[in-house]
Amino acid sequence: MTDDSTDLSPHDAFALLGHDLRVDILLALSDADNRSLPFTELRQRVDERDSGKFNYHLSKLVDRFIAHNEDADEYRLLYPGHRVIDAIENGVFHEQVTIANVRLDATCHDCGSQLRFDYDTINAGRVSCPSCDRLLIGFPFDPGGLTDRDGQSVAVAFDRRTRSTWERARADVCPVCSGHVDAAFVDGSVDEAATHGLPVLVDFDCTQCSFFCHVPPGAMLVTHPDVVAFLTENGIDARERRLWELPFVVDPGAITVTETDPWQVAVTVAADDAARRAVFDDAVSVASFDVVR
Ligand SMILES: [Zn+2]
Ligand SMILES: [Zn+2]
Repeated sequence: MTDDSTDLSPHDAFALLGHDLRVDILLALSDADNRSLPFTELRQRVDERDSGKFNYHLSKLVDRFIAHNEDADEYRLLYPGHRVIDAIENGVFHEQVTIANVRLDATCHDCGSQLRFDYDTINAGRVSCPSCDRLLIGFPFDPGGLTDRDGQSVAVAFDRRTRSTWERARADVCPVCSGHVDAAFVDGSVDEAATHGLPVLVDFDCTQCSFFCHVPPGAMLVTHPDVVAFLTENGIDARERRLWELPFVVDPGAITVTETDPWQVAVTVAADDAARRAVFDDAVSVASFDVVR
C-alpha cells in the first residue's frame, strides 16, 4: 500500500540535490554530532555568507532530506538524507579505483594455482585463476570498501559483501531497494555471470529496481541450516571460507543438471570422505539434502 499524496517524480527528487550548497548542507549534517546542527552553526560549516541564498537552498531540502525542529532551531538528517550521504560516501559515482593482482592465500580447486584478486570500480571485484584463465567470483563492489584496507582485506570484505548481497536476494528482499526479487535458473553461459564455467546459474532480477545478477547455485547453500550443520559436523566452518574456497560454489564438477525444461539441478557438497547432494526445485529452493549413494 502506498500513499502517493506527497510523492515527487524521480526527476524532481534528484533535481532537489542539483546544487553544490545543498550537497554541502547534507554533508555538514552527516559530519555533525548526532547528525544535527542549529541554523547558525550549519551556515558556518558550509561557509555561505549570503543568508538569502543559504535559506533558499536549505528550504528546498527541509521535509524531504532533512527535518527542522523549530522549537530547538535544529536541522537533522532524515532517512532519505542518509541515503543520499550513503550514495556519496560509497564512492561509486565519483571514484574510480583499481587494485591489481593481489595474490590470495587460496588455490584453484582445478589446477592448484594461487588465485588472484583484481578490482576496479567499473568492472567489479574479480577472483580468478591465472593458469586456468577462469573467473571464479566476479561481482560489483563499492570503492568505499577499499578505505583503510589492504588488498587481502579488501578481498575478504568483497567476499562478505557479495555473499550477504546474494543471501538477501535469495530471501526475496532486494539488497538495493528492498523490493521482491525473482529467481530462476539460467544457462551458465549467460552474460555478466558471477562465475564462468558452470553449466547453470541462478538469475536474480529485482521486480522494481535495476538490481540483477547471475550467481552459482551453490551460493544458495552457504547459509542453509542443513548444509551448515553437515559442514560443521565435518570440521568446516563455512563462515571462515571464502566463496572461491568452497568447491560446491565454484567447481563445475559439483553441479549436476539432468533437465533444463524445467530445470533439474543438484549440487554435491563434499567434506572429507562424506558427501551430500542438494536437489533444487524449479523455483530455486532446496527440496532435499541427502547422503550421496
Ligand atoms: Zn586453475
Ligand atoms: Zn531492487
